[in-house]
Amino acid sequence: MTVITRFPPSPTGFMHIGTARTGLFNWLFAKHHGGKMLFRIEDTDRARHSEEAVAAIVNGLHWLGLDWDGDIISQFGRADRHAEIAHELLKSGKAYYCYCSPEELEQMRETAKAEGRVTFYDRRWRDSTATPPEGVKPVIRIKSPLSGERIVHDKVQGDVKVDAEQLDDFIILRADGTPTYMLAVVVDDHDMGVTHVIRGDDHLNNTFRQNVLYEAMGWDIPVYAHLPLILGPDGAKLSKRHGATSVEEYRDMGYLPEAMRNYLLRLGWAHGDDEIINTPQAIEWFNLEGIGQSASRFDFDKLNHVNAHYMKLADNARLTDLVTDIYKLRNIEVTDTGRTRLLAQMDELKSRAKNLVQLADDAEFLVKDIPYDFDEKAAAQLNDDGKFIIKEIANGLDLIPAFTATELEKFCKDVAAMHRNGKLGQVMMPLRAALTGRGSSPSLVHAMEILGKDEVKARIEYALEK
Ligand code: GLU
Repeated sequence: MTVITRFPPSPTGFMHIGTARTGLFNWLFAKHHGGKMLFRIEDTDRARHSEEAVAAIVNGLHWLGLDWDGDIISQFGRADRHAEIAHELLKSGKAYYCYCSPEELEQMRETAKAEGRVTFYDRRWRDSTATPPEGVKPVIRIKSPLSGERIVHDKVQGDVKVDAEQLDDFIILRADGTPTYMLAVVVDDHDMGVTHVIRGDDHLNNTFRQNVLYEAMGWDIPVYAHLPLILGPDGAKLSKRHGATSVEEYRDMGYLPEAMRNYLLRLGWAHGDDEIINTPQAIEWFNLEGIGQSASRFDFDKLNHVNAHYMKLADNARLTDLVTDIYKLRNIEVTDTGRTRLLAQMDELKSRAKNLVQLADDAEFLVKDIPYDFDEKAAAQLNDDGKFIIKEIANGLDLIPAFTATELEKFCKDVAAMHRNGKLGQVMMPLRAALTGRGSSPSLVHAMEILGKDEVKARIEYALEK
């Protein structure tokens, strides 16, 4: 059997972290089994549907590095097929027309409420021989089993049971001929040959109803795995209140996709105590048994830790490209010289930075030209004392035997010994302020070597005039 999973997001305009995790699990499961992951867009809600909303999901998947098999399937585009199945069920006697008016339904709702029942529809048209009222367009309802225990065998939650009485004869085709979500999902999953449904446990209740449809059609029920929710650090459902909830926000905050994959994998799936699990390893290990039964809490510190790990491993040229994209957003052009400088200091930059945005901040002085701004800390360093020191440094630069980090360090130590009782910090701080415009930076002597003597001189000149 070829494993076929599916990724069926509703296009909401962004890709929620939970959706991304579901996508990742489906992708890993398919990859692990040499199967396929299909991509269906659940776009039947036409009011909310837009090309941009679909693009947001596609871009999110691309960014995460997840791919799918075949074309994107539009659920809306399959409405005729859904209707066809509804009529087939009608013909085989598994479904029926219901002509109830809104008023009748309202009354049933009230009675049900008074009697404390969960389902309200009293099935009055189920086996009715009454003549349909004139001019009323009927809906089609499925005949749900009337009694007995209904069981969903779930790979995460185990066997979950409800009494058949809890399931109503739900609508599968509306009066205007459009399918309901319940029908569309089942028909699509069946037609797509889906073998495994891995999705959020907010859909577990739907599963009981969906299985009624599978049984009515005589179709194989897929294997189910319902994933517990993602919670915020405080245990409440993850929401904006906790911080970023969409994939694009994490991208913009400078997280690497491979770090995000690793983090999302661990958010609900475990392989012993392993925290760092790269994607090839994840594909090899992923299984449904490793999915936890309880909700997982989003842990920003852990994500930062994982991201820092992948930053260190990332290729320098790739990181240079990625920060160049960030500079573009900041309207900073990266020239060839700027790129060379970035590459030259990347080993150090990437081991300091928790994320790409921080890396871009740290390295901005390498790509910016005079005039640049001084941040508050830097400006404070450029007082008379500070200026005295950087002037001393500028005056000595021509005497240094070679413009290398080692020689520059020796030289700065000499200046400190001569003017600041050997306190190197009191030399480096104003020098850093002058050369980078910032209160902190990666190794300054290394940066000086990379910038070169002329540039260092020019920057000190510039700072002295401030
Ligand atoms: N479109 C649904 C959602 O985004 C998924 C439905 C399903 O997985 O069956 O939550």
